[in-house]
Amino acid sequence: MTSESLDITEFHWLLDMLQTIDVGLVVMDREFNILVWNSFMENHSGLSPDNVKNKSIFDVFKEIPEEWLRKKARSVFLLKNRTFTTWEQRPYVFKFKNYRPITGTARYMYQNTTIIPLGSTDSTVNHICMTIYDVTDAAVNKLALKEANVSLQQLSRTDQLTQLNNRGFWQESMETEFQRCSRYDSISSLVLLDIDKFKDVNDQYGHQCGDDVLKELSKIIQGSLRTTDIAGRYGGEEFGIILTDTIGAEALVFSERLRQKVQACTIKSDGKDINFTISVGIAEFNPLIENHSQWLKQSDVALYKCKDNGRNQCLIYQADMNS
Ligand code: GH3
Ligand code: MG
Ligand code: MG
Repeated sequence: MTSESLDITEFHWLLDMLQTIDVGLVVMDREFNILVWNSFMENHSGLSPDNVKNKSIFDVFKEIPEEWLRKKARSVFLLKNRTFTTWEQRPYVFKFKNYRPITGTARYMYQNTTIIPLGSTDSTVNHICMTIYDVTDAAVNKLALKEANVSLQQLSRTDQLTQLNNRGFWQESMETEFQRCSRYDSISSLVLLDIDKFKDVNDQYGHQCGDDVLKELSKIIQGSLRTTDIAGRYGGEEFGIILTDTIGAEALVFSERLRQKVQACTIKSDGKDINFTISVGIAEFNPLIENHSQWLKQSDVALYKCKDNGRNQCLIYQADMNS
């Protein structure tokens, strides 16, 4: 066998291999006319090489963003470098249906794409080859993982009964807010509220009704917040609210409104009408507060002053409350 005939044989082998690999191959000239169209492309598009040969890719596939592909190709022709596009940048170039059974949730095939310059013997580049990889499985898995992480994070910081932030997350937010106020000379207020005589609610109506009261109160709290405020369930029937960029006097107005709303509200649970009240302690940030625990302690002192004074009221922390 001469070396020339071997070359031709190899060339045919090569063509056979290119036809059967599980990757899309499209060769185009400078006018984006299709010259090579392998079986991957045929199988997924339903168009045979005869259907597409010598036609502009933009005429056959209207979904391909022309500006984008022209710009990509221009740099390949000019710099003679390959270029790569991931599914994360652009989910697909060719809108092929996804037929994979495992990842049936994806409607279209996710694709990674490369464009390679094809040099002629005189080293000019007049053709490009586009390779299309089906990365649907990897993409769908990655998207599912991302989604799972988001809901897991959400779950790990949410109080299951009330759907407010749980103690851990709220406390973390409070620490962050303390740092922010210290650093940027902002003033925020901390609000700690506790249901009055909640033990009596449980005793009189039952634990289930007590839970309903906690849920309803949480809804009232949530409905009273601005988007920047952060509420959390601090303990059994105790709630914390961070009012960002809010001075004590404004926090008192907020708290008083909340207290009145709660007082006016009748909760229906298990066929019973339940009324209850809350006490609210407020601590305004000031630069003399040494750490977040001290800030929290001040709101707690104010809260217990409310309890001492007969409950169903709101108070701002004052230094003389400690005595
Ligand atoms: P005070 O006005 O002094 O706050 O009186 P209180 O009865 O509210 O306070 P105390 O701390 O004595 O009782 C709190 C009660 O809250 C006792 C506990 O059984 C109840 N509690 C705590 N967590 C839950 C909960 O998740 N569901 C229900 N139903 N009750 C709870
Ligand atoms: Mg209580
Ligand atoms: Mg309590």
